[in-house]
Amino acid sequence: MKIVKKSNQINAFCNNNYKKIGFVPTLGSLHAGHLSLIKKAKKQNKICIVSIFLNPKQFNNKKDLKTYPLDIEKDKIVCKKNGVDLLFIPNFKEVYNWKNKKTKFPKIKNIMEQKFRKGHFLGVLNVMEKLLNIIKCRKLYLGEKDFQQLKIIEDYIKLNKFKIKLINCKTIREKNMLAYSSRNKLLTKKNKEIGGKIVNFIIKLKKKESDFIEFKKKLLNEFKNRKIYHEYIENFNIFNLEKSNKISKKNKIFVSFCLGKIRLIDNF
Ligand code: AMP
Repeated sequence: MKIVKKSNQINAFCNNNYKKIGFVPTLGSLHAGHLSLIKKAKKQNKICIVSIFLNPKQFNNKKDLKTYPLDIEKDKIVCKKNGVDLLFIPNFKEVYNWKNKKTKFPKIKNIMEQKFRKGHFLGVLNVMEKLLNIIKCRKLYLGEKDFQQLKIIEDYIKLNKFKIKLINCKTIREKNMLAYSSRNKLLTKKNKEIGGKIVNFIIKLKKKESDFIEFKKKLLNEFKNRKIYHEYIENFNIFNLEKSNKISKKNKIFVSFCLGKIRLIDNF
């Protein structure tokens, strides 16, 4: 595995090889969720590139950025073990001093993360604009765990007519069904257990209910009983993120809640 820190180096490599490249962008602190993307990219492309860049622009909460559980040395070992061909670990200047043609940003609906994390997606689009210009690729791997982000990047690719195929990757869960997230490392054992119980509650309830209003009432009650703070419980169509009151395969239920000081998001 080659580790690259310079944008111009990886860009030169990609310009000659982009048709063979599958790209997995990450913030680091790699876990089994990231690994599922890496394995898919490995399988579907001759060359698998992973980036680790803790993008400060997408952190609306500076404390969240400061406590982010980064471990670059461990991530390097994980990438090497899993057959990553090129690991891109740039610093802030390497990313943001990169000169590229301005691209268009899609409109973002003021729902979910856009509503509760002001400026977050603008930061995500800023970094994607840079990364997709530095790392030319044919396929881009993103997780459904961050579904709204995935839809926004999908819109961004379409709007700018990039020849990049977006590959959606299913959410990978821990044994107790909590979705893998770098922030899980910051949870106490007790809160992790509670997180698992909440997720199992949601999965079971979703199987029983077809009416979202009823579902939401019951989940609100569960949050209240457990004294858990939540930011949203929503049900949206997976294609256009329009609101729906019906629980069905065309829709997803989106939840954001806090365990202690750790904010988690998930969808079902
Ligand atoms: P992050 O490092 O959190 O920005 O995540 C990098 C990529 O991994 C994003 O496309 C995420 O959606 C994806 N991802 C994060 N957690 C999971 C998970 N539990 N299962 C599948 N993909 C995930």
